[in-house]
Amino acid sequence: MPTTENESCPDCGFVWDNVLLVEVPKRLEVGTGSFVALLARDDAIVSVRPSNERWSIAEYAGHVRDVLLTVRERMIAATIVDRPTGLPIFREERVALGYYDLDTAAELASELRVASGLLVKTVRSIPEGLDSRTMNYGFPSPTERPVTWVAAQGVHELEHHLGDARENVRLRTSMLA
Ligand SMILES: [Zn+2]
Repeated sequence: MPTTENESCPDCGFVWDNVLLVEVPKRLEVGTGSFVALLARDDAIVSVRPSNERWSIAEYAGHVRDVLLTVRERMIAATIVDRPTGLPIFREERVALGYYDLDTAAELASELRVASGLLVKTVRSIPEGLDSRTMNYGFPSPTERPVTWVAAQGVHELEHHLGDARENVRLRTSMLA
């Protein structure tokens, strides 16, 4: 089995092992605040894809919202059930089938805060000794992961797509100039 020690995201450089569970709430709060601020930008920046290969900032926000909710459910399940397996969230299908079509920037901002806040409370509430329990996690490759890693993955998804959203601001701003 390949080692997952010091594994990093090839796109953003995030190292899951570097994020302690105790740091997760602050990272989620800071990242969420930054994402919400981007959602307040003009609609031409928030709701338009800069290219066919990228989502809009609103779509990235919808994806992160759903990931944070899913991560919360997976963490709770792993503290109760022995080594559960998470269903994929079908990220592309959610967008393609139109499940994000009714999302407005204002709703996304409040939903992102709710999803992030729920995950923060969950992280702060994990009973002692249960954070090392594991689950089968499909991303980035199917591997048995401890609950602490799953929490770090919530931070990763938020910070990774915050980077995507910031890149969108740059691309859209230059297109509109
Ligand atoms: Zn990443």
